[in-house]
Amino acid sequence: MAKVSLLGYDIDSLSFEGAVARAKEISGQVVTINPEMISNPDLLEVINSSELVIPDGIGVEIGLKIMGRRLRRIPGVEFAHRMIEECASEGKTVALVGAKPEIVQKTVENLKAEYQNLDIVYVHDGYFKNDEEIFKSLTDLQPRLVLCALGSPKQEFFINKVKKDLPNSLLIGVGGSFDVWAGEVCRAPEIWQKAGLEWLYRAIKEPERFKRIFPALPLFVWRVLKERYIPRGV
Ligand code: UDP
Repeated sequence: MAKVSLLGYDIDSLSFEGAVARAKEISGQVVTINPEMISNPDLLEVINSSELVIPDGIGVEIGLKIMGRRLRRIPGVEFAHRMIEECASEGKTVALVGAKPEIVQKTVENLKAEYQNLDIVYVHDGYFKNDEEIFKSLTDLQPRLVLCALGSPKQEFFINKVKKDLPNSLLIGVGGSFDVWAGEVCRAPEIWQKAGLEWLYRAIKEPERFKRIFPALPLFVWRVLKERYIPRGV
């Protein structure tokens, strides 16, 4: 399967529909990669050993473009929602781990209202001290789809740790998706999304995001430009 490398992080070269088709065939870890993750060297091994890595957001799309590769972004929140829809129509089981207790409960309520056939077999909020009990429940239940909304890099490490005991599961790190599905956080209007400015809209709505995005984003673009145009060793 074709991969493209961005600063050493391998990304699957797939369209949205291609990624959905691939995800339906495999089990293992799905990462929706963004520049913040690429700026975290601790995640390199986890990401490069993931079964599917999709480019989430304009930052990665631009980074790939600088490297001469065209790959359309796949918003993680849309991709994960589509996988839920696939599970509902195929009668496959789903587990949700993450977000605040009231948010994950509201997410369950909203998803069940949307898909009457959806079989949610396990739900746990994301504010736990000990992950053993969650690992044990997931191992007992063996859900086909496990969505983890713990924020990055916590969710990537959590999935990486549990995936070996879930040989038939697809495990996706979904960041703030439960907050969106619970109706707590609104996605940017479509015009912002189309312009690739969803990150800016979210940063305006949640100013504390600026602190996270702003060291990582310009640094990421600089590193990609350096990789592309400045020979190594200079
Ligand atoms: N979260 C969690 N446990 C934690 C830290 C965060 O469940 O210890 C949840 C948080 O409530 C939110 C999600 O993880 O629902 C992270 O959202 P954020 O928007 O920061 O993620 P991003 O999409 O930016 O990775």
